[in-house]
Amino acid sequence: MSDLTYNVELAAPDIEPYRAGNTGIEYVTNFAAAEPGPHVLVTALTHGNEICGAIALDTLFRAGVRPRRGQLTLAFDNVAAYREFDPRYPIASRYVDEDFNRLWSPATLDGPRHSIELERARALRPIVDVADFLLDLHSMQYATAPLMLAGLLPRSRELARQIGIPELIMCDAGHAAGPRMRDYGGFGDPASAKTALLIECGQHWERRAAEVAIDVMLRFLIALGSVERDDVAALGGPDFDATPRQRVIEVTEAVTITGEHFDFAGNFRGLEVLPEKGSLIGRDDGREVRTPYDNCVLIMPSRRLVKGQTAVRLGRYLD
Ligand SMILES: [Zn+2]
Repeated sequence: MSDLTYNVELAAPDIEPYRAGNTGIEYVTNFAAAEPGPHVLVTALTHGNEICGAIALDTLFRAGVRPRRGQLTLAFDNVAAYREFDPRYPIASRYVDEDFNRLWSPATLDGPRHSIELERARALRPIVDVADFLLDLHSMQYATAPLMLAGLLPRSRELARQIGIPELIMCDAGHAAGPRMRDYGGFGDPASAKTALLIECGQHWERRAAEVAIDVMLRFLIALGSVERDDVAALGGPDFDATPRQRVIEVTEAVTITGEHFDFAGNFRGLEVLPEKGSLIGRDDGREVRTPYDNCVLIMPSRRLVKGQTAVRLGRYLD
């Protein structure tokens, strides 16, 4: 199998049954319990080709899971891109006009621009505004270990530890190209109690990514008291009861592409540790990009090497 050929093991579920929802926003459904509790939001398809999240939500819907406390909102985000998903060209449907997950600043959301993704972000914004907790389900280009993206706030890292999987927790500030939904508003505010996590479940179309998405989602709901373990144990997969030793990677910087042509110096797939400071990572219009310290971890090297976008993030293990 060549490096650019994908084996699409997952089938994209039919989400038309969830179009109407009950919130007045298409593909958004809210369940409210009588007992008070947090408002928990789980989102899938922030990127249209990351279908493991849609499988996880579909699994929850089909099982008829309801919150015991508070509210549970389930949302399929970039449905327009998902509609274009074609297993023959799986890489093509990440978005239609622009990346939905780089639009989450008030300036952009309130601004004058228009795009398919911006309209959808504006439609979903009221839901994101009222949620106390967010789990955004994603997957990656390369088949590396799952990564919980906990942002920079200690309370997000604590929640990631409470959930207990996956093994790797990454603390990062996001991308120069624009804020992610998980960083928006109170989710990125040290003074707020709102807490968001983003899980990268594995390679976009490997079966394993769907297992991780389901188990992380269930453990997130259990950790927040939305459901009890026995309510959802039957849906659990191989990681439902796993207790790995979790490790934290602190992301120190994102390498943002400034030139017209970026090349990596090696066939990096992510989570490589380059032992020596000054190791060559790549060339940005010929300018050498080197590791800034010893034992530098390469995180999620991109295949979309476009000016203004992140080529790779750099970090180090904290423990
Ligand atoms: Zn994604």
